[in-house]
Amino acid sequence: MPLSARQFAVQEVLRRQDRALPHLSGGQAPSISSVYGASTFSDVVMQAKLPKSVYNKLQDTIRRGQPLDKSIADVVAHAVKEWAIEKHTTHFCHWFQPMTGLTAEKHDSFLAFGEHGEAMERFSGSQLIQGEPDASSFPSGGMRTTFEARGYTAWDPSSPIFIMDGPNGRTMCVPSVFISYHGEALDKKTPLLRSMRALNDAALPVLRLFGNTTAARVVPTVGPEQEYFLIDRAFQALRPDLLSCGRTLVGARPPKGQQLEDHYFGSIKSRVQAFMQEAEFELYKLGIPVKTRHNEVAPAQFECAPIFEEANVAADHNQIVMEVMRQVARRHEFALLLHEKPFAGINGSGKHNNWSMMDSDGRNLLEPGRSPRENLQFLVFLTATLQAVHRRAGVLRAAIATSGNDHRLGANEAPPAIISAYLGAQLTRILDAIENNVEDAEETQERLLKLGIANLPDVEQDYTDRNRTSPFAFTGNKFEFRAVGSSAAIAHPMTVLNAAVAESLVDVRGRIQRATESGMPIEQAALHVVRELARETKAIRFEGNNYSDEWVAEAERRGLLNLKRTPEALEQLIRPEAIEMFTSTGVLSAEEVKARYHIDLERYLKDLDIEVETLVDLARAHIIPAALQHQTRVAQAIDAVQRVKGQAPHTQMEILDACTGEIGRLGERLEALEKLVRDVSGLDEKARAPRYAYDVAPAMEAVRESCDRLEVLVQDSLWPLPKYQEMLSVS
Ligand code: ADP
Ligand code: MG
Repeated sequence: MPLSARQFAVQEVLRRQDRALPHLSGGQAPSISSVYGASTFSDVVMQAKLPKSVYNKLQDTIRRGQPLDKSIADVVAHAVKEWAIEKHTTHFCHWFQPMTGLTAEKHDSFLAFGEHGEAMERFSGSQLIQGEPDASSFPSGGMRTTFEARGYTAWDPSSPIFIMDGPNGRTMCVPSVFISYHGEALDKKTPLLRSMRALNDAALPVLRLFGNTTAARVVPTVGPEQEYFLIDRAFQALRPDLLSCGRTLVGARPPKGQQLEDHYFGSIKSRVQAFMQEAEFELYKLGIPVKTRHNEVAPAQFECAPIFEEANVAADHNQIVMEVMRQVARRHEFALLLHEKPFAGINGSGKHNNWSMMDSDGRNLLEPGRSPRENLQFLVFLTATLQAVHRRAGVLRAAIATSGNDHRLGANEAPPAIISAYLGAQLTRILDAIENNVEDAEETQERLLKLGIANLPDVEQDYTDRNRTSPFAFTGNKFEFRAVGSSAAIAHPMTVLNAAVAESLVDVRGRIQRATESGMPIEQAALHVVRELARETKAIRFEGNNYSDEWVAEAERRGLLNLKRTPEALEQLIRPEAIEMFTSTGVLSAEEVKARYHIDLERYLKDLDIEVETLVDLARAHIIPAALQHQTRVAQAIDAVQRVKGQAPHTQMEILDACTGEIGRLGERLEALEKLVRDVSGLDEKARAPRYAYDVAPAMEAVRESCDRLEVLVQDSLWPLPKYQEMLSVS
């Protein structure tokens, strides 16, 4: 008998070798520092290639956030071109993040013609600064009508220019924002940059209140920990669901899933390590500070974490990390799965966004200090962040809402859909003490000592015992927003967090100022405000197990939102108070917010439409035919026995009945699913979305259940789809 496609795939996989590269293996790998940033227009290159005055002006933009001086554009462009050509680069593109959550690029060559028609390379200042992609097919959420669909891309000098290797040539990428001719943000980067400005503008005055006169800027810092799965490409090719939806829509649980918990931090298999090492090498060249690699909890699941950077650079870099890992995985015959829940019953993937604020003197504002005053400042920034999470929990929830993340949030291994914050025992004790400490005549300094604020540096030691169940956890000197999905572009959730904290800091500054104006010294005023905030944010603080049912009930008593699915979460984005937050901070206009709401909602519906179609196809074209084949074989076997023995054998009849019954049930469930989708197809998006979440999704689950039952009934060699066990045991 010829091999089935699935059996052939297994054979292929068994023959795989580690992909060892001559320039990396056998002790040939160069030191990281010698390749780091080699493919970027780095500070070193700028200093070497730019006249001093131009270099200084450019630095004003890059480091100090000043607007770009257009008069230097031609000089910079020339230097960039010289550098790119030295690096054998033939093309350039403006590289940006449209609202699809992916990145976009349109390549142009440096080709131009000289006076006598001779071919030459050219790259002008205006080409560096501005591009005009034919962008009418990017989603605009209704902000642009088609006749004025032209938007333009503008260079974002705060993110380094980089060169991407292609198989047969190199392309220079100019990180850019994408805006309409009326100045509306058509991308994810512009709002992020605006939110960083808002945070800076709100945080600096608070620092000044504490007597800081040296800091020139405050920036949010982000370190996104990227989780992902790797499976063999031969298996992916036989799974229409993985190809179209990024996740398996059917598949019975394997006998060995993650029960043994033997994968986490286990030794990394060499074929996987070969992938990681090549990917990291590529990322180092691009100046992306990937630092940590390890196995994750689920089989075939891994993590890659960078050293944190300023939020906008971190956002660009995370997009590049995902893209480079995807490309390198392919070279190793792996498929990279970034979906939040590729396999039911197996841990999903997230992207923990570690977030803090840093001033231009390099001080982390969420790092406890050495003196009581420093620690009061720390507590002000800490509680301001708590206030932001408390007031804007709904918008934060909306910012991470996707069909993929719906499978993860609230499942019993991921943060729940309820947004709460974890502080740890010591800080909780301190906030409680501050809260309960009635204003008395005691000297502030003395009181601070009593409250334990003077010796906060011990905080970190207290954090060895982490609460891994919290969606928003303080981890010693930063918050970790864990509910972000693994496939997400981090720009949007980070935009919302920055905006919320900026809004909160404006309020906090006002309160402290009012207190000092009424004659309180700064310490007392700050303590007073921290006390108010500790009291006001109590509902959002939760130290217990976020996975427990008790918490769901408790959160409801506390009046916290529990938005389980994307449609209801997205509604939070367009509530008046959310729009107020975006507009008051100058991060998004009301129209820009609504555009994002429409795009996200539409995306959700499209995701589910594709999933439904794929599932129906899987069931009808793959699973039912296999089950019928099996059924025929069993029936033939029964016939044969009957001919000899004169009666139908009991066990065989049971097998046949089970199979026949399940095929029938699957048929009914498929019809029910298709009818549901037809019934809601006439509704507008807003009405259709909840029907998808609460009717269509369960109907899909019912179809899946029948498929998965058939998987264990049908003779293994007849089953067309690679099974979980095969896909998850990469080697
Ligand atoms: P942990 O084990 O506490 O999660 P790590 O030191 O491994 O901590 O850091 C996890 C991630 O958090 C890394 O990407 C790291 O760069 C990032 N990180 C550390 N400090 C900060 C900070 N101040 N702001 C943002 N991210 C940070
Ligand atoms: Mg962590």
